[in-house]
Amino acid sequence: MNKKPTLAIIVPCYNEETVLPVTGPQFHEKLNDLIQGNLVSKDSKIVFIDDGSRDSTWEVIVDLASLSPYYSGLRQSRNRGHQNAVYAGLMESKEWADITISIDSDGQDDINAMDEMIAAYYAGSDIVYGVRNDRETDTFFKKTTAQAFYKLMDWLGVESVYNHADYRLVSSKVLEKFAEFDEVNLFLRGMFPLVGFQSTSVYYKRNERIAGESKYPLRKMLHLAFEGITSLSIKPIRFVTILGLLMAFMSFAIIIWIFVRFFTGNTVSGWASNATLLSLFCGVQLISLGIIGEYVGKIYLEVKHRPKYIISERTEDRTIV
Ligand code: UDP
Ligand code: MG
Repeated sequence: MNKKPTLAIIVPCYNEETVLPVTGPQFHEKLNDLIQGNLVSKDSKIVFIDDGSRDSTWEVIVDLASLSPYYSGLRQSRNRGHQNAVYAGLMESKEWADITISIDSDGQDDINAMDEMIAAYYAGSDIVYGVRNDRETDTFFKKTTAQAFYKLMDWLGVESVYNHADYRLVSSKVLEKFAEFDEVNLFLRGMFPLVGFQSTSVYYKRNERIAGESKYPLRKMLHLAFEGITSLSIKPIRFVTILGLLMAFMSFAIIIWIFVRFFTGNTVSGWASNATLLSLFCGVQLISLGIIGEYVGKIYLEVKHRPKYIISERTEDRTIV
């Protein structure tokens, strides 16, 4: 009756050949401690998801898997981005694991927070958010943009945990329900609060990346931010409508003004105001079209219902031979 829960540590990896040989054994040691401490079952595993890396990440994973049964790996058929890599790991593990913890591969998330996460699980939480309690290791730019983003999300009515990224414990009970969320556009940190169940947060200090470079350039960061907003909030579309109404109201006033000018015989001096208004209205219309287009694009992708991940190889397949 007293069976310990089986843990899957989900580690997405994209071009991390310099990082994995260092962090892999760290995860292993942590898992070993948890098993020795009788907190999780000895069937627990570390699941690396190679997100279509172009370097030797997959070979590193295969090598690790040959060293210990605690290591396992999935290889995605191509790069699909961090969110989809984590999703693949979660969905592939939920059948055999009772709890999953997703964590970055680069050593930035403090592995010691796992003990607290598991303690919170024992205390009854089905989702435990890892929340960083400082941003000292971030650049000023990353710090301010990240903060602005959380504020914006909040303002747009998207429920998300402040300063929580993707370091998170989730039970299979939640994943079972989460799998019913059919959307193709993934923004995991904003979706888990929607599943419900009892949740809590644990705090940790985020470290520097152990080696290599961030795989989240500004382009990917902006993409994630857009994804998060347009996947989970329809407020921007409502703003467009309100903006349109305001503009219509304004132009009504402007028409009256034009009439007054016309009847007082002052019509020649209108070029500057005309040009200004023209460009203003053009700008507003293009922005509005863009926002609507963003949602139409989302609908297009959702309707296609493409698979969110495709696994091309597994380390288990190799060991069985
Ligand atoms: N990652 C991924 N696919 C991608 C980009 C990143 O699986 O397309 C992984 C990466 O290997 C790392 C995690 O996502 O384990 C977070 O990425 P990174 O550390 O580069 O982001 P940052 O910490 O700079 O935000
Ligand atoms: Mg990182």
